[in-house]
Amino acid sequence: MTKVEMELLREEMDDVNLRLLDLINERAKIVQKIGEIKSKQSVNRFDPVRERDMIDKIIANNSGPFENSTIEHIFKEIFKASLELQEDDHRKALLVSRKKKPEDTVIKIKDAVVGDGNVEYVMGPCSVESYEQVAQVAQAVKTRGIKLLRGGAFKPRTSPYDFQGLGLEGLEILKRVADEYDLAVISEIVNPADIEKALDYIDVIQIGARNMQNFELLKAAGEVDKPVLLKRGLSATISEFINAAEYIVSRGNGNIILCERGIRTYEKATRNTLDISAVPILKQETHLPVMVDVTHSTGRRDLLLPAAKAALAIGADGIMAEVHPDPAVALSDSAQQMDIPMFHEFMDEIKQLENRILPAKELG
Ligand code: PEP
Ligand code: MN
Repeated sequence: MTKVEMELLREEMDDVNLRLLDLINERAKIVQKIGEIKSKQSVNRFDPVRERDMIDKIIANNSGPFENSTIEHIFKEIFKASLELQEDDHRKALLVSRKKKPEDTVIKIKDAVVGDGNVEYVMGPCSVESYEQVAQVAQAVKTRGIKLLRGGAFKPRTSPYDFQGLGLEGLEILKRVADEYDLAVISEIVNPADIEKALDYIDVIQIGARNMQNFELLKAAGEVDKPVLLKRGLSATISEFINAAEYIVSRGNGNIILCERGIRTYEKATRNTLDISAVPILKQETHLPVMVDVTHSTGRRDLLLPAAKAALAIGADGIMAEVHPDPAVALSDSAQQMDIPMFHEFMDEIKQLENRILPAKELG
């Protein structure tokens, strides 16, 4: 074959490529029109019978040199791409995604602002045990300028024989303390039926790790006008976590704080493995604020401060940790809550780092 012949064949090939391109796009436009009709009629877009029929017709006309199986493969790819073209916008871009909303979601909770570039702290006991216990922590929290107090009233415990929380009485205690110390309170709700009632007592609804895929709870939290702190499930992937948040926002409530609290791995040195890289990934992929719970992720008092430092350095919007006046007698998580002197040391140290990082953040 001469060089000229080769050139000619190449030109011919380029020409065929462009014709194929035109044909594929012409087909895509027809697919879009069909998609519009189907969406008005609420008919399922994927129609396997119709697809089989099209393949059969194509194969019946195949005179080679491609084998039937190759032709079938190529056309199935074209069908698949067309189907994706018909998929609704939600599948392409979730409501929680940056693609859908590039600007950060900023959540105001009384005096606290989560997601505006500053760091908010959520501190308080694992469980609400008594008025005095919560008030002692609230008093310490208040002196540090912290605005968000936590405390569990409904406790999802691994064992049914462990302390299950004070329930509504616990919420009443939280509300009383919050009013007295002018703090906002966060507490976990485990039953969709309790959400309405809880609105009178708490400022943020926490959905715990064990309930991250309790879809009825997510939907119920999505239907109220109250911020939600959603924790990552024990074995949830980042994608599952994001989809759990999507459940809430799809029902109308966009005020969601994501909270990385460690995931279950083979490592036994810590209670869970803090997946620190989830923080920037979640911040890149969603517009929601991201917090890090250093207590449940590490399960170790000696790691609370270094984990919190890592969280700040990697760009978390807030840090959650548990504080109890006397952890040794706490009814839950006694091994990892800070006592009040330790809490003050923790705040001294973390504030030093915050002051070094945050001005730099503003400049950058
Ligand atoms: C909690 O924060 O009280 C709690 C139970 O945490 P998690 O759901 O992350 O285990
Ligand atoms: Mn706890």
